[in-house]
Amino acid sequence: MMAFTVLVETFKEIIKESIKQQLRNHSIGQFGRRCLKLDNYIFLRRTLVSHQIITSRNIFTGTAYFQRPPIPHLDKFSARPAKGKAIVIVGLGLLASGYYFTHLEESPITKRKRFMVFDNQSVAKLSTKVNQDMLASFKPFMLTPGHPKFRKVSDVVNSLLGANKDVVYISKIPWKLTVVNKPVVNAFVMVDGHIIVFSGMIDLCQNSDQLAAVLGHELSHVILEHIPEKISNAHLLSIIMMIPLLVIFTIFPLAKAVLLESLLSHLAQLAITLPFSRKLEVEADEVGMLLAARACFDVREASKLWERMAKKSKGEPPVFLSTHPSHESRKERLKTLAGPAMEMRKAYGCPPLN
Ligand SMILES: [Zn+2]
Repeated sequence: MMAFTVLVETFKEIIKESIKQQLRNHSIGQFGRRCLKLDNYIFLRRTLVSHQIITSRNIFTGTAYFQRPPIPHLDKFSARPAKGKAIVIVGLGLLASGYYFTHLEESPITKRKRFMVFDNQSVAKLSTKVNQDMLASFKPFMLTPGHPKFRKVSDVVNSLLGANKDVVYISKIPWKLTVVNKPVVNAFVMVDGHIIVFSGMIDLCQNSDQLAAVLGHELSHVILEHIPEKISNAHLLSIIMMIPLLVIFTIFPLAKAVLLESLLSHLAQLAITLPFSRKLEVEADEVGMLLAARACFDVREASKLWERMAKKSKGEPPVFLSTHPSHESRKERLKTLAGPAMEMRKAYGCPPLN
């Protein structure tokens, strides 16, 4: 029941946000403004009614209540005869499938089949300016290499990289560590090799093994090219979405089609983008454990860290709305992965643990 209430509330928020956005995009008339103040399901109904009204005019003044700005390619498409529309939709479907199958490749290490049109280098080029700005904003808080916290992280990073030199990208990327003295529980690795660790994360980790679990996971995102994969998938989704959008713009009047377009994009987010992101997180956990095991860290500490993380961060968003798995499920999964990782540790000749 609780989950259902959360679901209903969430959808309500999504619908409200989407409609508000729609209204902001149009010049908002009096009716639209009134709609924005409503705080229940009637809001949606009235807005649907308002969308009927936007195509009509005020009977006293003759002015439109609010108008949709023109969307040239969709307006042009709506004006085509039915046969022409069917040809465009089928042709686009064929093109999208051809594009998909010619861009499939295997991911390194896990050998998962995936769609890729970008790689780490192209993303690094695109994000240079953003990354430089971000690093500049960290500058006043950066710890020097002599600082004990910096040394602690640096030792873990060197062990992970040193033990995994043969892994794709590890010896190709010029890794650079930055430790930011801020109480933020976070760490991430950029595609160009910048490893950013906040002191909040160092403080949360009880030992180097837990830190290795975090950094192994973050390095795995780069090794597995998860960022270019996410961008590639977003690109593919935008192409695929053109087909239902064209169908919607064929069947419904423009005002309703604009509303459905927005709902469809939120549904795609819930049904495709977020589950995909969670899948990549699970994969980074698996490969992160592998990297940590080869570097002789105690891989059993990974689940303990997520147990601490779960205790620390109360009020996580529901999993279906999150880009990451829940801390609890992550902890359980890492516990299961610890068995094979301990075997691998042994196979690599690491000293036994208690
Ligand atoms: Zn991650």
